[in-house]
Amino acid sequence: MDLCRRSFFLPFLIILIVSHSAGSWGFYAHKKINRMAVFILPPEMIGFYKFHLNYIVEEAVAPDRRRYAVEGEAPRHYIDIDVYGDSAVYKLPRYWQEAVDAYTEDSLLAYGTVPWHIQKVANNLTNAFEVGDVRAILRLSADIGHYIADAHVPLHTTENYNGQLTGQHGIHGLWESRLPELFAEEYDFFVGSASYLPNIQVSAWNAVISAHEAVDSVLVFERELTAQFPSGKKYGYEERGNSTVKVYSKPFSSRYHTLLAGQVERQMQKAIKMIGDVWFTCWVNAGQPNLMKLPREMAEFQITDEMEHSEEEIYRGLKSTQ
Ligand SMILES: [Zn+2]
Repeated sequence: MDLCRRSFFLPFLIILIVSHSAGSWGFYAHKKINRMAVFILPPEMIGFYKFHLNYIVEEAVAPDRRRYAVEGEAPRHYIDIDVYGDSAVYKLPRYWQEAVDAYTEDSLLAYGTVPWHIQKVANNLTNAFEVGDVRAILRLSADIGHYIADAHVPLHTTENYNGQLTGQHGIHGLWESRLPELFAEEYDFFVGSASYLPNIQVSAWNAVISAHEAVDSVLVFERELTAQFPSGKKYGYEERGNSTVKVYSKPFSSRYHTLLAGQVERQMQKAIKMIGDVWFTCWVNAGQPNLMKLPREMAEFQITDEMEHSEEEIYRGLKSTQ
């Protein structure tokens, strides 16, 4: 697309066109997921996390916001598992070093590292609990919540992350932003209480497997619905701040949501459960330190002015780099 056409189309594509390297649930869903995970923690942990709830919730989107400022951030949010061949999601080396030995670090970085990165952040979080570093505990808890949530998004596990290979451009934002924004208030987020994970790395892979197994229905239902939906009714326009943006219409979104039969809700529930599980597991592995004895300092927010990007800016920036 040449520059003129791009600048002409840009305002209309802000919401529609989302890449997995920028998108990753919408900001709304990420914040909701981190918030709900706090409430499944055991009594020894929940007081500390509730005291810092605002940070845990607001910083749920920090990894997306800093992707322009931090080199190497982008691949941590996804894995294009299908580039490794048939059934690769069941076969790829589970541990980072084994994967590097098999494929080289460069190729792993090219196709995304989310399952391995979750394990890495978990190690750092465990260390932070061990030494009682409040700021690190909070930063890493918020971060790992983001990456775990991303690992539960089906389109974060495929090369066809925005339907660009199947003529379904924009489906990424439809599934992970538009649907939660329209329907998540009706979801049931009761997911039980946090439990210990014997192997976080294996759990991260299980998340990727279940997300990847959902890719087919994400794509097929949208394609089938589009074929039978009245032309001209698939999209609509909405005011967002000062601009008018083209969005999937509410009737289309609603029909698609019904066809998915609770899939978005289930993936959000699984993400919430796993985040609470991982926070709890790291704390147990660190020897269950008494969090109420930690200094009641507030962590500084990770995003500085130069790094600050709104959700729309991220989408717009992404579009201009495509
Ligand atoms: Zn992300």
